[in-house]
Amino acid sequence: MAATAPLLMRIISSSVAVSKRAGTVIRNVLRKGDLGIVEKGKNDLQTEADRSAQRCIIASLHRQFPKVAIFGEEQLDPTEKIEDDFLESDMDEEVLKMTCPENLSNVQDDDIVIWVDPLDGTSEFTIGLLDHVTVLIGVAVKGKAVGGVIYQPYYNYQLEDENNMGRCIWGIIGLGAYGFGKQMPTKDQNIITTTRSHSTRTVTEAVEAVEPTEVVRVGGAGHKVLLLIEGKVHAYVFASKGCKKWDTCAPEAVLHAIGGTLSDMLGNPILYHRDVPRKNSEGVLATLANHEWYLNKIPEDIKQEFRPEPSASGDGGSKN
Ligand code: AMP
Ligand code: MG
Ligand code: MG
Repeated sequence: MAATAPLLMRIISSSVAVSKRAGTVIRNVLRKGDLGIVEKGKNDLQTEADRSAQRCIIASLHRQFPKVAIFGEEQLDPTEKIEDDFLESDMDEEVLKMTCPENLSNVQDDDIVIWVDPLDGTSEFTIGLLDHVTVLIGVAVKGKAVGGVIYQPYYNYQLEDENNMGRCIWGIIGLGAYGFGKQMPTKDQNIITTTRSHSTRTVTEAVEAVEPTEVVRVGGAGHKVLLLIEGKVHAYVFASKGCKKWDTCAPEAVLHAIGGTLSDMLGNPILYHRDVPRKNSEGVLATLANHEWYLNKIPEDIKQEFRPEPSASGDGGSKN
């Protein structure tokens, strides 16, 4: 079945298996206790778990899909030798059993870019907020996020039962999303999730502007979108330029697969072609429903901070 399945289904199927393996890699690093923390920038950490998980994911996917562009968050030495037994070659059978949406069944290697966040929520990982951590593998086709895998390696970790730890959520637009329990969000509330560790005045002002009944400050773009798809919060509001393409590609695809919306703060779609800037400089707004209502609540002066600068020549890009 694997050899004949459409390319997109094979990539998602492999990504599910690879994300689980990356979860084991992350848990092993933490169990050994030496996190090897490096400061990449202001309030931006990297640990041995981020590095090892990325080595495993990128090398595994590259071996199976050598012609597909794959970008990971961490800058690692590309010549580094990675042992074969560190790579995952399994594919998830449940994914392969499903029928690929018609419009995605002929996608070719060149059309695809895979965006990998090997460990989303690193700040929280280093202080033991383990359920905030996710592994994100997003698949974009012609610049649009269409498939995503979100693995949560410490789901159920309070039970201290290694066998029941972790869960994998995946989705494809047109096929739906799997691996989680849905509940309807409460009607008379407006629960907003946002960053725990990267707040600014603008971030807080935007959250206040959408009239929350409660604010849930947690780590990770993946984790926050999980709260959304499970109906535990109503919107994820992040008026900051801090998120990158690997943070949003997989969560966006999973959210869109169940009918939600992830856009920038201006309401425009985020694009994922291979040469796009890595930063989501226009911010992130994600909702299960009523996206326009949230967009309209964001004050114009905040939106102004996220409008792309006119070009240096002063023509504002309006010619031609
Ligand atoms: P958070 O909600 O703060 O966990 O952020 C979601 C993702 O965006 C994480 O991968 C963060 O590392 C990243 N991120 C958000 N803001 C910043 C920032 N100011 N600097 C670096 N990374 C950021
Ligand atoms: Mg991240
Ligand atoms: Mg990361």
